[in-house]
Order: sequence, then structure tokens, then C-alpha cells
Amino acid sequence: MQFYSTNNKDIKVNIKQAVMQSLAADKGLYMPEYIPQMNIDFIENLSSFDLRDISFTVSKAILGGDIPENDLKEIVYKAINFDAPVVKISDQIYTLELWHGPSLAFKDFGARFMAGLMSYFIQGENKKLTILVATSGDTGGAVADGFYKVPGIEVIILYPSGKVSDLQEKQLTTLDENITALEINGTFDDCQSLVKEAFLDDKLNANYNFSSANSINISRLIPQSFYYFEAYKQIKDLGKEVVISVPSGNFGNLTAGILAKKMGLPIKRFIAATNINHIVPDYLDNGQYTPKSSIATISNAMDVGNPSNFVRLLDLYDHDINAIRKDVSGFWITDDDTRLALKDAYEKYQYICDPHGAIGYKSLSFLSDTEVGIFLGTAHPAKFLDTVEQTLGTKITIPESLAAISDKVKSAHYLEKDFTTFKKFLLER
Ligand SMILES: *Cc1c(COP(=O)(O)O)cnc(C)c1O
Repeated sequence: MQFYSTNNKDIKVNIKQAVMQSLAADKGLYMPEYIPQMNIDFIENLSSFDLRDISFTVSKAILGGDIPENDLKEIVYKAINFDAPVVKISDQIYTLELWHGPSLAFKDFGARFMAGLMSYFIQGENKKLTILVATSGDTGGAVADGFYKVPGIEVIILYPSGKVSDLQEKQLTTLDENITALEINGTFDDCQSLVKEAFLDDKLNANYNFSSANSINISRLIPQSFYYFEAYKQIKDLGKEVVISVPSGNFGNLTAGILAKKMGLPIKRFIAATNINHIVPDYLDNGQYTPKSSIATISNAMDVGNPSNFVRLLDLYDHDINAIRKDVSGFWITDDDTRLALKDAYEKYQYICDPHGAIGYKSLSFLSDTEVGIFLGTAHPAKFLDTVEQTLGTKITIPESLAAISDKVKSAHYLEKDFTTFKKFLLER
């Protein structure tokens, strides 16, 4: 399989280049040159496979020609070592819980698979790979965990001081070994600018072999298609048309779902669910794509004003908005309505969502009788402890893995947000 740049379909690279470069030289995002079709027998017999086998079969359809089967199998089995259960909320509403991995958010799927592929590709190379990543919260934890103790790779995480939750900060700053946390006196955007500037700096590039773990990397997209097959498997015996609602920020998760549908998975339609950063629902509504500065909300992983994977969405439909509208509808709510949705799910069905999942839950209020809906549970509610406990007026149980790190001692380097300071730090360490 070759991968082309969304800016120029004639520029093609192999999977190793696509993964190691992340972004094409013309700043386009990589896409598979064709979408493989899954065998009908595979779809009909999904129930006889577990999540790992499904993941391996789907990954083989995309990457089987490029990575020997046994190696690919090892990468997939190591990365996807936790479950993704579908849980019933009501007769018509289900949730796919994607937070059973180590960082308790769906980003574990992408980060762990990416870590596996990158460590596979650098085998035999003698220069250490340095992953630079800016995080507003969940990405950092998943990436840190995914690359923890991976030989030949170190990770430097930049996060905005005081702007990630306490538990998220602990996930970034308590690992040590090959993980370095930089607490930046600035915003997420400042962290991202520092990373971008470092990639362009000659002196730093002479000293470091940089790569990025950003969500635009194709190796984060591919594994996110696996669990749509798993979701369908768990719901198909109901004999209804399947609607999947995806709480969205940068739209990697939804794009992966559309990829699964185009590979032959019978999903009837998707809902692109957002908070008040409703750039894509507006686009679906009026045909205008107008990026804005992001606005802070209680579903902060979706506070994105210019979704990076939007170009992939367009690419999958050859820029035909009416074709997109057939498969995807938009939905968005405010923070107040998100709190009401959290309460509603809890009071009516005793189910505790996180604020992102609550938006997905709410979006499934308008299904037709022939449909059944699944919203993606993108994070464990304990990651957003204060919001959830205050809204529901009850204490929630913190999973052991989170409880364990809350006692650990934070280790981070505090840096001012100017590039000179950051560069000096990198050159002198
Ligand atoms: C990252 C994230 C999202 C948004 O996913 P995208 O793929 O960027 O659309 C939603 N919910 C949670 C909890 C996240 O961490």
C-alpha cells in the first residue's frame, strides 16, 4: 500500500515514510492510495473473532503487503491488549467504551499502535529517535504510556502549566525513564508552536532525529478503524440499522469510522457530535468551513477550532459535501446541556458518562424506530472528576491505575514559553 498526500495525489510514499514523517513535505496528510474491501464472510462472521483478531485482520488488509504477517500480528497484539465492550444504556442507545486501556482514553489505540510501528521501523538504525509532542491533556498520557521503555526512542512532552487536570498531569510526569515532561508557562498553542519551530531548526535537527506523535500521523488513524468492527459485532444481532455517534475534536476518530464503513462495514450513518466548537456541524449545515479560535469547555479534548483531520474527511468523499451529508450529520450542545445530558444518563439509566461521551449520548435522542445508536465513550469519567462529581452530586470510583499514580511524585522541567529557552534546554541536556 502506498500513501498519498491530500495536497497532491501524485506524491506517494510507503508506510515507513508516512509514519516517520507524519506530515507530507507539502503539508498534506497521508491517505491510503485505495480503500481495501473486507471479505463479506469476515463481516458476517465477526462474532467468531475477538478484538485482537479483528484488529489484525483489518490491519492486514491495509498493511499486509508492507509488513510481514508475523511482525504485524505481534505489533497489533501488543498494542491492543485491552477490551472495547459495548454497554447497553437503553433499548435504543448503547455505548462503546474505548477507555479500558492504560491512559483511560481512546487515544491508547492510536498511540500504542504508533509506538509499535515506530519501534519496528527504527530497528537496526543507530540514531535515537526523539518524539516531540505537545498535549492539551489526553494525548500526552497515551503517548507517554505507549512509548514507555521502548528501546531507541525517547519522548519529550510539552504541556501548558496549570491547564491540564491533576490526574492528566500525573500521567505525564511520573514515568521518567525515556519520558521527559516539560511544563511550559503558556498555553497549548504555545506548546505546539515550540514543537513546530523545533522541527524547522537546523541546529536542533543536527543534534536530534525528531518525529511527531500528533494525531495527523496515519499510524494513529488506522488502529482507530478496528473498534468500529468490534462495535458492529456486538450489536448486529439486534437486526437494526446502526448509527454511530462520535464525540469529535480533531475528527481523527470519525474519519477512522468512515474508513471502516468504506471498507465494507454496514454502518448506516454517523453523527459528528461536538461542543460549542461546532465548525464541522456548521459546515454540514451551511456548506461553509470557517475555522475559528477554540473556546474552552468542560469537554476540553474537543476544544478545537480548526480540526486537523477535516481534510481527510473531504478527501474520503472527493470534496463532495452532499456525499458527506448522506453519511454524516452534525450535532452540538453547550456546556449547560452537556451537564444536563450527564445527569439524564445517570438519573434515567444509572450510567456515568464523561463529558465528551455525554454529548454523544444526547445526540442519540433522535433516532428512528428502525435504528439503534452507539455513542463512543472516549474517556473514563474519572479523568474529568470535578466536572462529573459536581454535576451528578455523587462520588465516582477512581480506577486503581489512576488512584495509584495520584500518590506519585511529579517530575517535570518548568520552562518559559520562548523558543530560545526551549532550544537551550534541548541542546544542553
Ligand atoms: C481526543 C479526544 C476526543 C476527540 O477525538 P478526535 O479524534 O480528535 O475527534 C474526544 N474525547 C476525548 C476524551 C478525547 O481525548
